[in-house]
Amino acid sequence: ADHCFEYPSHPDQYDWSNLYPILETDEAKEKKVEFLDVGCGYGGLLVTLSPMFPENLMLGLEIRVKVSDYVNDRIQALRSQHKDKYQNIAVLRTNAMKYLPNFFHKGQLQKLFFLYPDPHFKKAKHKWRIINKWLLAEYAYVLAEQGIVYTITDVKDLHEWMVTHFEEHPLFKRMTDEELKYDKIVDKLFDSTEEGQKVTRNNGDKFLAVFKRVPDEFME
Ligand code: SAM
Repeated sequence: ADHCFEYPSHPDQYDWSNLYPILETDEAKEKKVEFLDVGCGYGGLLVTLSPMFPENLMLGLEIRVKVSDYVNDRIQALRSQHKDKYQNIAVLRTNAMKYLPNFFHKGQLQKLFFLYPDPHFKKAKHKWRIINKWLLAEYAYVLAEQGIVYTITDVKDLHEWMVTHFEEHPLFKRMTDEELKYDKIVDKLFDSTEEGQKVTRNNGDKFLAVFKRVPDEFME
């Protein structure tokens, strides 16, 4: 149950150097998490993006303890095998639906990932979907203006649900294929995670949708 999750009362209250030992060095001490993989599963995306963006701190959130332990072991092993590499990725076990503003400042995140989220097929379970009207307000809060949300799923109904919710929200705008042409992350969304690889093995479809956090007109 949720009562066993520890979470800070404010993002600065959290000891981030536990996750990222480089924060104890002078060059890196001001860094903050900028990429967030929500429901990161076994961590394939983090491992793929780490060497592509060595300057950005990335975090995976995962609710299942065994899975988050696995990701942590995986990262520790990579760090010990590759000196000075994989210092920018880490995993945190938490319920991403509950505590985001406790962990991240307003406008802190540049990229937010929802890769193959749990579909919760039945209508009565839709409220458990990681994309919903209320959570979109939180995602908009923690994202920087011009920050990007990447979503991909093999479930068409969930894809349509995510697109509808983001498009109805005034702080998000769907990005066009043209805009995404030069984004080197897009290619990695299909197959770098364990779930994406499973969908490929089963010849499943993959539906991609990417959104930009647009400025709040009423705040200017
Ligand atoms: N993104 C990964 C991938 O592509 O391989 C994992 C996909 S898996 C279908 C969904 C993951 O989200 C599971 O590992 C699940 O435990 C995690 N998850 C579900 N609800 C969550 C929540 N509220 N907070 C954090 N993680 C959650």
